[in-house]
Amino acid sequence: MRLVRLPQGTRVTVLAGARVFDPDTGETTRADVRLDGDRIAEVGPGLDGGERVDCSGGLLIPGLVDCHVHVAFPRTEPLPRSARILEAVPVLRGLLARGITTVRDAWGADAGFKHALREGWLTGPDLLVSLRQLGPTGGLGDSWEPPAGAVDTFGDPSLPDPLFDGPDAARAAVRRMVRAGADWIKIGAGGAMASIRAGVDVRPADDELLAVVEEARRCGRDVMAHAHTAAAVVSAARAGARSIEHGTFLDDSAVAAMADAWYVPTLSPISDSEFAETHRRSLRLAVEAGIRIAAGSDLAPRPHVDLATELRLLAAVLGDAAALKAATSEAARLLRLDDDRGRLEPGLRADLVLLDGPDLDVTDLPGRIRAVWHDGERVSEAS
Ligand SMILES: [Zn+2]
Repeated sequence: MRLVRLPQGTRVTVLAGARVFDPDTGETTRADVRLDGDRIAEVGPGLDGGERVDCSGGLLIPGLVDCHVHVAFPRTEPLPRSARILEAVPVLRGLLARGITTVRDAWGADAGFKHALREGWLTGPDLLVSLRQLGPTGGLGDSWEPPAGAVDTFGDPSLPDPLFDGPDAARAAVRRMVRAGADWIKIGAGGAMASIRAGVDVRPADDELLAVVEEARRCGRDVMAHAHTAAAVVSAARAGARSIEHGTFLDDSAVAAMADAWYVPTLSPISDSEFAETHRRSLRLAVEAGIRIAAGSDLAPRPHVDLATELRLLAAVLGDAAALKAATSEAARLLRLDDDRGRLEPGLRADLVLLDGPDLDVTDLPGRIRAVWHDGERVSEAS
């Protein structure tokens, strides 16, 4: 499979005859969409001018946003460093082909990926990077093995040391990430599922979490917090993390603390585990409390984890329209990009996906994709 950007005879395009999805109301209406360069110029009936694309029988939705991906995950086998980078090339291309036009990387990708995308060396969605996940000694992000001691899986100055102990060191860790080009600060507010199972859940102290959030804000950044347990969620949310990732074991206290945060549940990776139902219950609890939901797949090079899977799992709890909202307008709000994308409105970016058929059913989203526009340019698969 090869992706090519189709030549554009003109910068004005009218996408004609489809239904158009408004993620905030959940409604679809019959309308044309006129694109002017990289912007949506007009949405309404009977538009003309420029190149005409017949979209009849289809549904236009905003380009999808995945708020939690790992496009350059280190593999367990001992491969040379370039393998991690090169594996991301088809991953990024595949994301765009599936209508995902913006992603937030939750650790693994450095700022060089953004540079390569900007320069056109790679084809892929717009990328926000967090570099690595901050954490205390023994916490998430501290790779340590009894016979070897500290193991740096990256060994790369563009992915700085994420470890800290104490508020001052926490501030320094944030500054190291910002210096290396992080758009977001990722904090491990609790351990990985394996650590929790093993009873080794070293969490940052509240004053350390506060220092991370405060320093990130001072640097113009927001914080995304990995947190499975209710205790980790409460600490991260009270410290002011903008999004809570995973939140597998939410309870009433966690949901109460999350009133000002977004919840990115990432149901996919553990959807076959013994915690799947607990996780769904956490999502229901959050929705009932009015917590804002944004979609994140926790995509990494592992099977059956991508945004299409996540949307199907979200839809089983929220319904199709709310699942799509979580991956469009609501995701853009979490990322503070809602004045630029996430809805099909004049002035916003021309990131769109044309689906086969008029309904909102997300059961087989990849199978329904007829065309993708990213930044006003049509992206298609070609052999
Ligand atoms: Zn993740």
